[in-house]
Amino acid sequence: MFVLGIESTAHTFGAGIVDDQGRILADARDMFKPPAGWGIKPQDAAAHHREAGGRLVQQAMEDARLRAADLDAIAFSQGAGLPPCLRVGLEAGRSLAAQAGKPLIPVCHQVAHLEIARLQTRLQDPVILYVSGGNTQVISHLAGRYRVFGETQDVGVGNALDKFGRAAALAFPAGPEIERLASRGSYSELPYVVKGMDLSFSGILTAALQKLRHGAPLADLCCSLQETFFAMLTEVTERALAHVGKEEVILTGGVAANQRLCQMLDTMCRERGARFLPCPLRYCGDNGAMIAWNGMQQLQAGNLPAPSLEIRPRLRTDDVDVAWL
Ligand code: AMP
Ligand code: MG
Repeated sequence: MFVLGIESTAHTFGAGIVDDQGRILADARDMFKPPAGWGIKPQDAAAHHREAGGRLVQQAMEDARLRAADLDAIAFSQGAGLPPCLRVGLEAGRSLAAQAGKPLIPVCHQVAHLEIARLQTRLQDPVILYVSGGNTQVISHLAGRYRVFGETQDVGVGNALDKFGRAAALAFPAGPEIERLASRGSYSELPYVVKGMDLSFSGILTAALQKLRHGAPLADLCCSLQETFFAMLTEVTERALAHVGKEEVILTGGVAANQRLCQMLDTMCRERGARFLPCPLRYCGDNGAMIAWNGMQQLQAGNLPAPSLEIRPRLRTDDVDVAWL
């Protein structure tokens, strides 16, 4: 069986194809890049997706050496995401499904991130730390759903790093440069904000920005930010492991590129006798293959798509019934 998946929630348009063994046969993608210094304007990203979509779908079909009639279903990213971008994905999915005469399956973008991370690491029943630009969540599967055990109460940890980077005139995205600078800095104290199982980054960011204005060395601030943010993430992840009694941790999202974060999680897991694996970086970012894979899981579980499908910009991870586990 083959499923083609379409991703279009934010800056990336992706078209990916997987088979029923979880092999990725195609993974074509292209990212909208706003002009330097600007955030994403939803309409501009949607225009990019409209322009690039047809070409990327065609490329995926060629890479997988398939024709439309060979597909068993089309999957699309239903949400969460930017409405104009989601609409482009839905339209592309509808027209492909009509062309192939096959069902159109809605996929929750966040759940697709979790499932491709499980597929890639082969860990079965993990606690997942999902840390990207806009998201920071500690998630695990329990009683039929992916439950969010802890999350940020304000910005995602990646955004907090990027905001600090903008103030310090670092290139965007700032995470990699902050990591490089941190390796030759030394720690000085910043506030530490864990509230129950939730985290908050914006007050720490404000404190770091104040120190920056008062002339604190940039490398020291980078080191202190990393140590503080990542210790908070590791603490909440450890508490989730203990609460749900699981023994595996997966790290995913763009911030998974950070070696210091991987090191802290690895140490914590070793001390508890748990396994830790980061998702391979290629599948930490937005892509069509992850949408295709969750589409395949739903197809195999016999999920029947609703007769009328709409986008769901505010879809939550725990809104989804996980029928395939
Ligand atoms: P995503 O939203 O999943 O595409 O991930 C992008 C985010 O990952 C941005 O906020 C980046 O600053 C962050 N990021 C990328 N590489 C690193 C790194 N080495 N250390 C920390 N954050 C990073
Ligand atoms: Mg994403």
